[in-house]
Amino acid sequence: MNADLSRRRFIQSSACAACAFSLGGGVWGATELTPTQELSDREAMHYEHLDGLTIRCLLCPKECRVADKERGYCGVRENHGGAYKTLVYGRPCSFGVDPIEKKPLFHYLPGTGAFSLATAGCNIECKFCQNWDISQFRPEQIRMFDCPPADIAQLAIEKKCQTIAYTYSEPVIFYEYMLDCADEGRKKSLGSVMISNGYIQEKPLRELLPKLTAVKIDFKAYTEKFYKQTCSGELQPVLKALEIIHEMGVWLELVVLIIPTLNDSDDETKGMVQWISEHLGKDVPIHFTRFHPMYKIKNLPSTPIPTLERLHKIAKQAGLNYVYIGNVPGHTAENTYCPKCNNVVIRRLGYKIMLDGFEDGKCKKCKTPIPGVWKDPLKDESRR
Ligand code: SF4
Repeated sequence: MNADLSRRRFIQSSACAACAFSLGGGVWGATELTPTQELSDREAMHYEHLDGLTIRCLLCPKECRVADKERGYCGVRENHGGAYKTLVYGRPCSFGVDPIEKKPLFHYLPGTGAFSLATAGCNIECKFCQNWDISQFRPEQIRMFDCPPADIAQLAIEKKCQTIAYTYSEPVIFYEYMLDCADEGRKKSLGSVMISNGYIQEKPLRELLPKLTAVKIDFKAYTEKFYKQTCSGELQPVLKALEIIHEMGVWLELVVLIIPTLNDSDDETKGMVQWISEHLGKDVPIHFTRFHPMYKIKNLPSTPIPTLERLHKIAKQAGLNYVYIGNVPGHTAENTYCPKCNNVVIRRLGYKIMLDGFEDGKCKKCKTPIPGVWKDPLKDESRR
């Protein structure tokens, strides 16, 4: 275990939580942030030329075919005379200092802060999106800042974070910026975590993963119907991405937002957890999270807590070792339990955590190793 963590048996992350906000602008700490409405014209990665000036974007499975002066579906990549440009490189619209538990990543440097950022745009449209006011807008429609990757790393250091988190909207669509922020972060020993829908093609994903220290994927459902009708996406490419992340050994956690009547059946959850068990193993943490009415789904109620408990039980019965209930502060399924002796190894109450049952990455009682990233990953490159 990180020496810092051994000393601090009780870590109160609420001080960190108090810093989480969207930035109003101006000076934030020692670094001045300049508002701008000027779009970036940096060339995008992962596209091919078609006939004439038309290109095909190969970043995500949508494979948009984009004519000159047009944009792809995500609204942040534009064809300039046959050269495809990312309009949001160095143009974040939201920042926050969040507890890493808020992402949620429960097996990754508990109690530490994540310097979190987003640009406008998304490559799908979830009808329940919590951040639709940035994800479903074009960059020129919202306030942006001129913030090159080196400034992001500097801000993270100033805010005493150990990690940069690409989050809130969909980081895949600001791929080039994420890549360079991760490089700048690494120079300052900062980790990088991607909070994503996993809707990305294999080649860019394989190039990105060595730069990341953890990934959280929103596993929206286990049916193509849900992905198509509720998210304008597809399930199969997400399954492929999950396999690649697992194969490449980057720490992975999953969140399933459970929406009444849409993805809350026993059969769907049984299928999902069986697939996880067979393809990702039994140690990948899965968080069943409570839905509240949002964006275009305001006609359904909040998820009943017994529904979450029923699905939690199904996942445990399937043999998954680390199953959590999210968005229900104070629930006992927020805690991490030792899969061998059932000791509470990490106790959580909202963003407060207690590590009394945990030592050197193991259950303190029976010494069973608990998988996760417990030491600063950039000081332990042997992990890769
Ligand atoms: S990243 Fe954007 S432009 Fe590229 S294929 Fe996906 S939605 Fe289309």
